[in-house]
Amino acid sequence: MARVARSESKKKKQRGSFFRRFLITTIIAVFLLSVLFAMSGNPFEDIQLPTFAQNASTPSSSPALSAPQQTPQPDKATLDAYFIDVGQGDSILLISPGGKTMLIDAGESTAMYAVRSVLKGLKIKKLDAVITTHPHSDHIGGIPAIIRSFDIGAFYMPDVSNPSASYSDMVSALNGASLRVNYLSADRTPTIEWDENVTIEVLSPFDDVAYQSVNNYSVILRVSYGGTSVLLTGDAEGDGVYSAEYTALARNTADKFRCTVLKVPHHGSLSSLSDAFLSAASPEYAVISVGSGNDYGHPHQSTLKKLENSDIRIFRTDKHGTLHFSMDGEDTVISVVQKSSPGSFFANIGEGIRNIFNKK
Ligand SMILES: [Zn+2]
Repeated sequence: MARVARSESKKKKQRGSFFRRFLITTIIAVFLLSVLFAMSGNPFEDIQLPTFAQNASTPSSSPALSAPQQTPQPDKATLDAYFIDVGQGDSILLISPGGKTMLIDAGESTAMYAVRSVLKGLKIKKLDAVITTHPHSDHIGGIPAIIRSFDIGAFYMPDVSNPSASYSDMVSALNGASLRVNYLSADRTPTIEWDENVTIEVLSPFDDVAYQSVNNYSVILRVSYGGTSVLLTGDAEGDGVYSAEYTALARNTADKFRCTVLKVPHHGSLSSLSDAFLSAASPEYAVISVGSGNDYGHPHQSTLKKLENSDIRIFRTDKHGTLHFSMDGEDTVISVVQKSSPGSFFANIGEGIRNIFNKK
C-alpha cells in the first residue's frame, strides 16, 4: 500500500514537473516568436497604403502639429516621399513617377527593421539609388544591412569620413558588395540622374569649404516633379559662417531652395533653421524626423515656433509615425503609412542604450 502511495506521489511529481516544463517552454516560445515577429516587421501582413482617415485627431501636446487630411488619388503619376519612423535618425524613401526607387539614409543599425518593413510593404527589391547625407550613426547605421539585403543601382555620399564603428561597418559592407561610391558635391555633381521626369539638384556641400562639423557636410538635395518638390537636408545646420545652409545660400540663388515639403535639418535642433534658409525654402509642409523622448531635446521649441509663425504645417515621425507625401506635380496628398513601427521601438531602445553609454 505504502509502495503504491509512493508511486502515486512520484507520478504526481512527474506530472507537476512536466507541466512546469511545458509552461516554461511555452512562455519562452511565445516570447521568442513575439521578438521575431516584431523584428521582421510583421511578416504576415503587408502595410496597407495609405491608411490615414480624414480628420485624424491631433495630439494636444503640440498645437502646431498637423493632421493629414486629404484623400489619395492613386491613379495619378506621382513623386512619393516616405519619411520612415526610425526613432532618432533619418530615413527617407523616394519613388519616382516612373517607379524608380531611392533611399536617403537608413537610421541607426537598430532601425533596419523599420526601414525593411516599409520596403517590404511596398514590395521593393531593388534600390536604384542609395544616398547617405553624412557619416553619423543615426543616418548610416542601417546602411550595411540595406547593402546586404537589396540590389543597389548606385551609391552616393559626401566626400567626408568619420572615425566611428558605423562608418567602418558601412565601408566594409560597400567593399563586400563591390559597390562603387559616387561622391556628391554641388560643384562636381550639381544634378543626379534618376528619373527623366524628376530633377534632383545637389545644393551642398561644396568642395573648397572646410566645414566645422560633420553635420555640415550633409548633402542638401532638392527633388522636384512639376510644381511640387521636396528639400532634403540631412543634419545641415544654420548658424556660423561655415554652416551648410549659409554656404549653400551664399552660392546658389534663393529660388533653388523653394519647396513644397521641407525635411527640417538636424531633427529640428536649436540651430537647424536659419531665418534666411527658411525664408528661401518657404515650404507648405515641414517634416521633423525625430525619436520620441530623445536625449537631445529635439525638436527645439524655438524651431517649432519658427515654423508655426510662418504658417507651415508640421509633421513629426515621433507623433505621426511613417509619413507618406504623394506629389503629382501640382497637389500634395499626405497620409500616415504606419504608426509607431516595431523598428522604431527597437531603434528607440538602441538609442536609449547608446545614450547611456555614449553621451554626446
Ligand atoms: Zn542626425
